[in-house]
Amino acid sequence: MDDLRYQVDLLTAKNQKLINNERMYNMICESSGCAFVYLNYVNNSIKLAGNWDLFFDFRISDLSEVSHLTDYFKEEDSIRLKNLLYIEKEGKDSATDEFELEGKERWVSVSVKVNCDDTGLPGEKLITLNDVSSARSRRDELYYMAYFDMLTGLSNRNHFITQLKDLLVKAERERTVVSVMLIDIDDFHKISDVRGILAGDEVIQSLGVYLKELAGPNIIASRFDSDLFCLAIYDPLGVRSIDKIYDSIRGYLADPIKLTDKSEVKVTVSVGVSEYPESAEDALSLINCAEIVMLKAKDSGKDTIKFFDNQILDHFLKDVEMETKLKEAVHDTNFFLNFQPQYEAEGKILRGVEALLRWRDKDGNLISPSVFIPVAEKNGMIVPIGDFVLEESIKAHAKWKKKFGCSLILSINISSIQYNRPDFVSKILSTVRKYDMDPEELELEITESVLIDDFALVISKMYELRDYGIKVSLDDFGTGFSSLSYLRGLPIDTLKIDKSFIDNLAEDKAAKVITESIINMSKRLGFKTVAEGVESLDQLDYLKGISCDLIQGFYLGRPMDSDNIEELLLRQM
Ligand code: C2E
Ligand code: MG
Ligand code: MG
Repeated sequence: MDDLRYQVDLLTAKNQKLINNERMYNMICESSGCAFVYLNYVNNSIKLAGNWDLFFDFRISDLSEVSHLTDYFKEEDSIRLKNLLYIEKEGKDSATDEFELEGKERWVSVSVKVNCDDTGLPGEKLITLNDVSSARSRRDELYYMAYFDMLTGLSNRNHFITQLKDLLVKAERERTVVSVMLIDIDDFHKISDVRGILAGDEVIQSLGVYLKELAGPNIIASRFDSDLFCLAIYDPLGVRSIDKIYDSIRGYLADPIKLTDKSEVKVTVSVGVSEYPESAEDALSLINCAEIVMLKAKDSGKDTIKFFDNQILDHFLKDVEMETKLKEAVHDTNFFLNFQPQYEAEGKILRGVEALLRWRDKDGNLISPSVFIPVAEKNGMIVPIGDFVLEESIKAHAKWKKKFGCSLILSINISSIQYNRPDFVSKILSTVRKYDMDPEELELEITESVLIDDFALVISKMYELRDYGIKVSLDDFGTGFSSLSYLRGLPIDTLKIDKSFIDNLAEDKAAKVITESIINMSKRLGFKTVAEGVESLDQLDYLKGISCDLIQGFYLGRPMDSDNIEELLLRQM
């Protein structure tokens, strides 16, 4: 009897343990958020567990019904899903894949684990279903962020390069052409500066959306960064489609872009085009070639398109070589100054000198400033170079003053890059003070290119300089865009008539008329006139005859070093 009671107690305890285990197992299954299907092929049974209702509004109760699961997923995936549900047929014992539920925009990860018997037939199988929609959308978001530009929805630079590489493989196989078109908005920084970053974003978005519309099976569109876009055009018809695309972009930009604040911005673009296989054969080189010509388009006045050719590459390489040499020169200070005398036309009295920069490169070649100054302006090296000129010329001027007690105007050429720097005026003033220079003896030569930028700011700096007594002279007058009437509002002291007019005085009647009217007008406006590049007595006499105030040129004195200026001053005393 005791034995029986003992057996009953044991069974009750075991039963209770089983009930507890079952409870625990149900709890685990439910809190997992997954649904489970357990199939037992030995006793032909099926058991569902977990959150089945989260996924389906039907239940399976028979082994043969498992294949009906495919009805609830996208039809195009049904073969893939079926293969997964019966992985044992492919000799596998576990696998996982993701599928989208039909009509629910939900993604489900389906895992299958199967245990086979010795004969290879399935004994039991567990199918686990897990909702991965949010992880997947995060993954999609990350994918989007990694490959696309958020502002325009275009491919980003890295993605574009991958796409371009694929396109080049196709072009090589099919012996066709791929063009790369780099598009940069002209003066974009001004739009952003004047109207604000958000307005700048709107402009980028507007052009980006238009380029996205152009994109298709043969055109990939991308935003590289800021206001720089790039298209790759798979072009079985040759480069003619580039012209069409360029025309359509210009057509789009013909009307100003309307911003949300109801204002409008007129936008132009500079475009550079390179072509596979002619310009280069790999993606990065093609982009580089397009960039070189896009920058050329900027240099030649913007709002234009340039096509890559090898001559352009030669020029570019020369510029790069020059840039490298320049960097070394700034470092090794291979620069020095010459000074060219400037005389009163009447009486040949020395009025002053113009400081002219010289550069002897490492190989001993003297390189003309007309060649290296534009390069230095492009890469910003003009700033330290300009500081050198300022310092050295004022130092030399102070030395002459100390030695000879002379009053001499020192003219210094200032590049627009220097002039536009916020610390420009203070830099000039601090150097003037450092050498105790009389500001009235300093004249800054600017060219008309300075005037293209923010006009009000340019003028206010001129007035500021003038308040200290520093003179401003307009160099190379007649070669730029300004008309004489434009000069009326400018607080300048001196006008330098460009050498090209002086060169033609003898044979060109028009040059005479222009020179004469420049001098007359300039007198009425209260400016002094300087004739540059005077090389002969005839020119000098003619200029004196039409009342030109000052003369500079090889006829009266070439640029010379500081010692020669000292000799000149000694003779003048
Ligand atoms: P620029 O300021 O118009 O200087 C006058 C140029 O004409 C100088 O050339 C001078 O040597 C040259 N020249 C003067 N008289 C005659 C003449 O009778 N016949 C001929 N054929 N040429 C004459 P340079 O020194 O080669 O300078 C060329 C340009 O480089 C300058 O034109 C100026 O724009 C720029 N430059 C020179 N030094 C500096 C500098 O320190 N800073 C900046 N930003 N530019 C400079
Ligand atoms: Mg000059
Ligand atoms: Mg000049």
